[in-house]
Amino acid sequence: MPCHMFYRKYRPQKFSEISKPNDTAESLLQQVKSGKTAHAYLFVGPRGTGKTTTARILAKALNCKKLDKNGDPCAKCESCLAIADGNYMDLIEIDAASNRGIDDIRELRERVKLAPSVGKRKIYIVDEVHMLTNEAFNALLKTLEEPPAHVTFILCTTELHKVPDTIKSRCQVCKFKRATLTQLVDRLTGIAKNEDAKISKEDLKKIANASAGGFRDADTLLQQVIEGGFSVDTLLNVGSKDDYLDFLALINDGDVTGALKKINKIYENGTDLYVWVGEFVKYLRDLLFISVGADTVFGDETEEIANSIKDQAKMLTPLKIGILIESFMKAQNSIKSAFITQLPLELAIVEACSFFDVDDQPTKENPYPKTPLALSTKTARHPEVMTKNVKPISSKKESDPEPEEVSPETGIIDFKVIEEKWCEVLTKSKDVNSSILALLKAAKVLELKGKSLLLEVNYAFHKERLESSKTRKIVEDTLNEVYGVPLKISCKVSETRPVKTGDREVGMLTDLNVVVPASPDNALNLFDGGLPLR
Ligand SMILES: [Zn+2]
Repeated sequence: MPCHMFYRKYRPQKFSEISKPNDTAESLLQQVKSGKTAHAYLFVGPRGTGKTTTARILAKALNCKKLDKNGDPCAKCESCLAIADGNYMDLIEIDAASNRGIDDIRELRERVKLAPSVGKRKIYIVDEVHMLTNEAFNALLKTLEEPPAHVTFILCTTELHKVPDTIKSRCQVCKFKRATLTQLVDRLTGIAKNEDAKISKEDLKKIANASAGGFRDADTLLQQVIEGGFSVDTLLNVGSKDDYLDFLALINDGDVTGALKKINKIYENGTDLYVWVGEFVKYLRDLLFISVGADTVFGDETEEIANSIKDQAKMLTPLKIGILIESFMKAQNSIKSAFITQLPLELAIVEACSFFDVDDQPTKENPYPKTPLALSTKTARHPEVMTKNVKPISSKKESDPEPEEVSPETGIIDFKVIEEKWCEVLTKSKDVNSSILALLKAAKVLELKGKSLLLEVNYAFHKERLESSKTRKIVEDTLNEVYGVPLKISCKVSETRPVKTGDREVGMLTDLNVVVPASPDNALNLFDGGLPLR
């Protein structure tokens, strides 16, 4: 099978091909050479830093028929080739994000007992191991406590703190660091040369900078430049600080429409929004430094732009910049898993625009209000509706009539039950898709007629998104799971603009939309508790 993606095509196949310095690769090589490898490893590090690649090389080394004298696999024997092609029977790769339950691990425990079918050792690579449930971790622990002699486990995680200590203590922990700029530029230079592509060192540096130390992201960006014909600046929008200057000016003016349009235009141009937002956050960080009076080194900006940036910094307080950084960092984190790529960013814009003190009157140019979204919903004003201590409800058999007998005017179940268990719907949605969670959090449950649940939203684009067939199916499946009856959703856009709320409602917006009363040190809690509401 031909390799189309650069990160696969140029994936290191031996320890010696891994970009240096790399202490982990060095130490694994020594262990293979001396024949003293561990039964279980825990590979820890940010995404795209080579955990899976190294795990596969280790798998090769443990099964290679012709190791070289340094302990490096030959990359030529049938085991090495089969592993490189991804069809080696004794290498089992498991994605814990989608096989996280007790049954998956029980099945694994049964299978590890069997001897390797072709090679010397059976290798299990468990990716995203922190996603396992507690029960699954306990089951895995039992296997790690008494591992069969022919098995090596390589657990990989980006979030070490979510892995139980009992598991950690059974594994040899190997850390993977972010690649340095030099390492990335070296690698990109090699690939560009091999692809016969002419790219300036400056452009390679920009790509390396935008990849945040991840080899995979760097490779993918380079491929988009070489094969997609994008210019580096269009793709990354780095080096064009005036772009961020404009974008922030729109937010500062509370121009939601303008900011949303800008984001969608950027997205349609094929720009990687994850990278774009990352650069925007960097820009905000620069502003933060300027606003507190620290010296900032300007790059290639013209004097004109440098002055505009300084002026913009003067218009914002460090606290406001902090709020924006927090909000857009959250959006950036959600982009990769978002069903609708630009949605987390759109929600961040709506939120951010609401923090700036501007006229509340909707105008033709700017029909969107400036009030924090969540405060306008009933649930936010009446946090008791959303608390977890919901009253116990009577069992389903007593309260639920058969769906067929329901008259269209009354609900299939009591509307109170809908409200009481709404937080469960939110919690479940969070597991499924964070952008759908954001949509539901911003919606208000209005009424139930027959099987039809009516939600009120503040913006037409929310209605459109919630009613799109894919999103609707996910939401309706979740409702069915929570309420045990098939419900259909429909949305209407609120006719009244959200009312600007009084000072008494200042507080913190937490995960479940519960407004916690304001306290004098809320500003200090800002970065832990979420966004303060005006
Ligand atoms: Zn080999």
